[in-house]
Amino acid sequence: MARKRVYSGIRATGRLHLGNYLGAVKGMLALQDKYDCVFSVVDAHTITVPYDPKTLRQSVRDIILDYLAAGLDPKKCKLEIQSQIPQHTELAYYLATIYPVSRLEDLPTYKEKKAQYPKYVNMGLLYYPVLMAADVLLYKGELVPVGIDQEPHLEVMREIARKFNSMFGETFPEPKRFATSGQYVPSLAGGGKMSKSIEGSFITLSDDLETIKKRLAAAPTDSGTLGGNLPKEGGVANLFMLLKLFVLDDVYNKFVHDYKDKKIRYSELKAVLADAIYKELKPLQERRRRFEQNPKLVDEILEESKAKCLKIAESTMQEVREKMGLV
Ligand code: ADP
Repeated sequence: MARKRVYSGIRATGRLHLGNYLGAVKGMLALQDKYDCVFSVVDAHTITVPYDPKTLRQSVRDIILDYLAAGLDPKKCKLEIQSQIPQHTELAYYLATIYPVSRLEDLPTYKEKKAQYPKYVNMGLLYYPVLMAADVLLYKGELVPVGIDQEPHLEVMREIARKFNSMFGETFPEPKRFATSGQYVPSLAGGGKMSKSIEGSFITLSDDLETIKKRLAAAPTDSGTLGGNLPKEGGVANLFMLLKLFVLDDVYNKFVHDYKDKKIRYSELKAVLADAIYKELKPLQERRRRFEQNPKLVDEILEESKAKCLKIAESTMQEVREKMGLV
């Protein structure tokens, strides 16, 4: 039996942060051993918000290096740069013809981006979930390791797959999200999720211990004398959520008790958290340096993956063009 296909991608909008790592990359790492995986830098999605064409290629390269540094293994998975596989945009256009505009206008990410860039509300932004559906369906992906913020897009993907299958015959699986324990990593700024586009919210995979400490120092806390149950939201809740993701249960429980007993010292919690985060990131940073020093190897990995991806992509497109009556 053929192995299940897996697809996921990250935009090239800056160096990866802990949210991307725990919510998406950790899932990719868990799946690469078992399944037939394609992991992408989705540069065609990147250009739907304001960006600098002069630095885009370097940003794409940075994500590839972060992927390799995190342990994505080109012997086990394929690494893709989305724009180099033109079948993505071809399939996205065909899928767009069977999906209502009104559903896209209602999606939370579209509304957020419209509010964030009121002067840059372009067709690509509205079209984003259709292209994302095409990204996964092009490879007939069944599992998608992404954070919980992507669930509405997964729903669109399934709707499109169902609609296509009912109109043109069984073709696509209905992809499911693969969730990790870090499917929602909170912001360091006190509210919302950790995100590349929100300054002060993130720790990147390349931060050294001093930088991690500095970023955590700026995270808001309280007087430490409230006691009782942990708050459900805000700076303290977020710090505890992060702590849970990085330390052993007994260390986490000690700080919970300190909080309850009104004797918590946030400087101590932040120091423990900084060390734990850095301990996880240090080997990644060393591995990244080795790939940085060997650009030829990285180019070879990308070329080899591209050839394999093009083959699968073209085979799906031949089927789609035939089923839609285009050839
Ligand atoms: P960003 O929101 O930082 O710009 P992307 O939109 O490119 O990141 O998302 C890339 C991947 O990282 C997606 O799978 C997304 O779900 C995941 N992700 C992003 N932020 C977080 C977070 N704070 N917690 C968990 N997963 C996240």
